[in-house]
Amino acid sequence: MAHQWRGVIREYAERLPVTEATKVITLGEGGTPLVHAEKLSELTGSVVYLKVEGMNPTGSFKDRGMTMAMTAAVEAGAKAVVCASTGNTSASAAAYATAAGLKCAVLVPEGKISMGKLSQAIAHGATLLQVDGNFDNCLDIARKLGESYPVFLVNSVNPARIQGQKTGAFEVVDALGDAPDIHVLPVGNAGNISAYWKGYKEYSAPFESGTAGTLPAVSTKTPAMWGFQAAGAAPFVAGHPITEPDTIATAIRIGNPASWDTAVAARDESGGLIEAVTDEEILDAHRWLSSKEGVFVEPGSAAGVAGLIKKHAAGQVPTGKTIVITVTGHGLKDPQWALRTADGSDVQPVSVPNDVVSVANELGLDAK
Ligand SMILES: *Cc1c(COP(=O)(O)O)cnc(C)c1O
Repeated sequence: MAHQWRGVIREYAERLPVTEATKVITLGEGGTPLVHAEKLSELTGSVVYLKVEGMNPTGSFKDRGMTMAMTAAVEAGAKAVVCASTGNTSASAAAYATAAGLKCAVLVPEGKISMGKLSQAIAHGATLLQVDGNFDNCLDIARKLGESYPVFLVNSVNPARIQGQKTGAFEVVDALGDAPDIHVLPVGNAGNISAYWKGYKEYSAPFESGTAGTLPAVSTKTPAMWGFQAAGAAPFVAGHPITEPDTIATAIRIGNPASWDTAVAARDESGGLIEAVTDEEILDAHRWLSSKEGVFVEPGSAAGVAGLIKKHAAGQVPTGKTIVITVTGHGLKDPQWALRTADGSDVQPVSVPNDVVSVANELGLDAK
């Protein structure tokens, strides 16, 4: 029988606030690969997997939440949606608004979003405004627009987003047969760490479904949640908001996370941690993933891997465990970082004459 993945709402409908009658807006998000990270496993002595969220329709995990938010917007009779974004939310909102037939406005910090993300929002026909401020300022304006003007807010302060994003945890458990011991991920606005924790908790206990009665627990345990922030944008580490967040990892360049309390709860209830990694550690991890594991991510996505490598170096990663790291967005979003070497110089492709001997010589090959 013909079958394809139907997107996270239809795959997990019993565990989401939808009904049979809900008109679902989807681009087939979710169902992303859980890739065994061989070299990280060798390094740590634990079994490490990467949840590769760059494989979502617009190239980041934001699509999991956006299918729910846009479905809710349509249900509410909205004609237009708005979001603030460090880039990926705008790419996702623009695509899903197109699928829903809604107008979309996005507010981004001027000069601080990658070309790939900017071009996605434009390609999908969103009205994109660059605000002379940072992400936190953009979110503030977007919230006020949602309150006082006829536009529907699709940032992760909208609980529908978190509902959709919790399906990442479901997929991990469905793939492994149980929850991992540790789940690692980057933390910016902190919606995702909150969403994964919600998903893991719901899967580890009987669940009161609106449409299917009481569902039995799927997993026997929950993981410790390990979140990592960029050192220049690490309000959870500081214990207070940061007014001028700064990092090359633009996806997590956020000083005043909207999901503060739920992220702290995820950290504390799970017996986890939220720590910081430097931009240099993030770029090293970015290079590790592409050159050793074969997985290309954007810099912000590498913060979790950077954190695991750092904790391992400090002797703080247990061996013999199962560890999942969410790598949140695709490397093609922000490809410039791959074209820089570890010492910061530009990579220059070698030019060769148009003949096989020259190419073989350049490759150091001797004729057979
Ligand atoms: C949005 C985003 C993050 C941060 O997620 P939060 O839910 O804001 O903590 C990390 N990486 C990428 C690629 C993102 O797009």
